[in-house]
Amino acid sequence: MDSEKLNLFTPISRIYLIGPTYARRLSKLGIRTVSDLLYHLPSRYEDFSVKSNIASLQEGEIVTVQGKVVSLKNQYTRRGFALQVAEIADETGKLEVLWFNQRFLTRTISAGNRISLSGKIIRDGHKLHLESPVYEILPVLLPGKSAQQAEDTIHTGRLVPIYPETYGITSKWIRNRINHLLKAISSKQIALKDYLDDNIREKYQVIPLEQAVFQVHFPQNLEQAGKARERLAFDELLISQLEAKQRKEEWQQKTVGNKFKIVEVSSKLKLVVSGLPFTLTGAQKRVINEIYRDLARETPMNRLLQGDVGSGKTVVAALAMLAAYLNGFQAVLMAPTEILAEQHFKTLQELLSPLGIGVGIATGSRKDYTGYDVVVGTHALLSDKLNFNKLGLVVIDEQHRFGVEQRAKLTAKGLNPHVLTMTATPIPRTIALTLYGDLDISVLDEMPKNRQRVKTWLVPPEKRMAAYQWIKKQNTQTFIICPLIEESEAETLLTVKSAKAEYEKLRKEIFPDLKLGLLHGRMRPKEKERILTEFRRGELDILVATPVVEVGIDIPQANIMLIEGADRFGLAQLHQLRGRVGRGTEQAYCLLFSQNESPWTAKRLKNLETIHDGLELAEMDLKFRGPGERYGLAQHGKWGLKIASFDNLSLVERADKLAKEVIARPEAFPLLRKTLMEATIGVAPN
Ligand code: ADP
Ligand code: MG
Repeated sequence: MDSEKLNLFTPISRIYLIGPTYARRLSKLGIRTVSDLLYHLPSRYEDFSVKSNIASLQEGEIVTVQGKVVSLKNQYTRRGFALQVAEIADETGKLEVLWFNQRFLTRTISAGNRISLSGKIIRDGHKLHLESPVYEILPVLLPGKSAQQAEDTIHTGRLVPIYPETYGITSKWIRNRINHLLKAISSKQIALKDYLDDNIREKYQVIPLEQAVFQVHFPQNLEQAGKARERLAFDELLISQLEAKQRKEEWQQKTVGNKFKIVEVSSKLKLVVSGLPFTLTGAQKRVINEIYRDLARETPMNRLLQGDVGSGKTVVAALAMLAAYLNGFQAVLMAPTEILAEQHFKTLQELLSPLGIGVGIATGSRKDYTGYDVVVGTHALLSDKLNFNKLGLVVIDEQHRFGVEQRAKLTAKGLNPHVLTMTATPIPRTIALTLYGDLDISVLDEMPKNRQRVKTWLVPPEKRMAAYQWIKKQNTQTFIICPLIEESEAETLLTVKSAKAEYEKLRKEIFPDLKLGLLHGRMRPKEKERILTEFRRGELDILVATPVVEVGIDIPQANIMLIEGADRFGLAQLHQLRGRVGRGTEQAYCLLFSQNESPWTAKRLKNLETIHDGLELAEMDLKFRGPGERYGLAQHGKWGLKIASFDNLSLVERADKLAKEVIARPEAFPLLRKTLMEATIGVAPN
């Protein structure tokens, strides 16, 4: 072991037995420092805790056997495969052990070694043997060393941690390296200080940090592992909450460059509102008031507007933009796709042109923005060529589709302008507390009156043809959404390819008499617009689309939504997809197909048949992180937290309470503040 002093920020390549090659491989797992490796947590544990004498072994059991190696040799089959055959013995008997194609074993294990083996007991004729076990050579029993110490195993004979792996990095290797780090912590070679003192830990019911770090890797039972993970998750939530609160403080230091005088707006506002083809919902009115109150302040607004699909966010944004215009300031609205930008452009034109307000647009294919005070666009708005002289309000639609830098770049075009972000993704309380602590949140929790519930069915595979027949008979337009192939949100080539294939199949084999269109993110904007216009005009009966492309599009007369590969989506996402239909007066339907036939998946998806509340479904998503479900994995990483999940409201609330305490009395938490600084700056403590 290195004698130099190590700390949590020491580059991993300086750790015993980790050189540049392993360091490079570890970087694929995001591991660069000692701390990264210590916090590389097991994805699960293999239970090898049952130990047995050789004499009492049972066929089929997963078990740990410890004894002396009597012999080990390679045996070759006629086809050149190598078998490794060992015999081991304890006080009660002898056991044959087999491995396949692990020639190096004869170099690492020798007769006379004491060994610990974990694996499955197989019957072969009358004989039992142990097949492909994990092995671990035990230290020689020295006089004076307690038997317990000598039997401290890490790969066998206990709950064994299994880690996320990568090329050239096995769980066994990770286990060895982490065990080494833990020993360095025990011997105080690496300092791991708990920044929560005894009182605070007791008050917030979490275990000490050092204990947590040990037990998360090598727990004696799953309960210990759970407690350990909870402490680490608590820290992660706490830090995330402190960061959000810090951002809020910083934001509140700002002063708007362009101060609004909201009072003068209201008569014009009444005019616009009375010209709408509908009356505003109570929620819309409430939210517009919240926004106007913000706009009248010196501190720039930083508000997130959440509303289910179809709840009418656009008109709220338009009325906020109108307020900016009437105050003599410019306003800009950024949307994630060209289709959406075009749609918003039309809506804003309809609302604002009667007042003589011109609306500009900036997208990849259309640039007509000079001289307008209200501009709509896509990422194209971020171009350095596009500048405002009096930008007072920035609106960002589908905010989760933009990165922090993109949002910052747009707001930097004004002098501390007001910012309104919008999302259809419901925000459970846990997430609001942890990630959005710096934002004020408004919720459109009321649907326009004419909306109906979308009748939803999970369709079993054997009824697929019947479902297609049923669609043919309905006198309406249909969306068919193809499955998301990758876990990432971005539209991948694979997704597009499968959409194309599905489109061809449907067109030729299933609906030869209907008119079909295909829409995906890799098409040219002009072409997308053409297809969408055709669909909107009723010239197409069925629109086959990838999931990404259609977010937010508004086609009131389409009444059927068919979703392929529904199991790949979260419930809240599916709810958003089905929200694309049922915007007119007729009954709308959503048909879900799933490739995954497990009862667990069916149960999850069937919730959509009865639950029509986006927030409730989002809360369920947090709980339903089930065995091997792809969706669960994708969802976890999405929020940028590695350890914590958002299904533990009590933990999130505890962390929030502590975060408030820290903000109120920072001097009482010197070590925590130091740790936070180090975590953000990434420098070594001295
Ligand atoms: P989203 O919140 O999903 O962005 P939109 O703003 O696109 O929803 O609104 C969906 C549809 O509902 C649009 O056609 C819009 O004109 C209509 N709409 C908005 N508010 C109301 C209302 N209060 N009553 C009836 N229809 C409304
Ligand atoms: Mg919208």
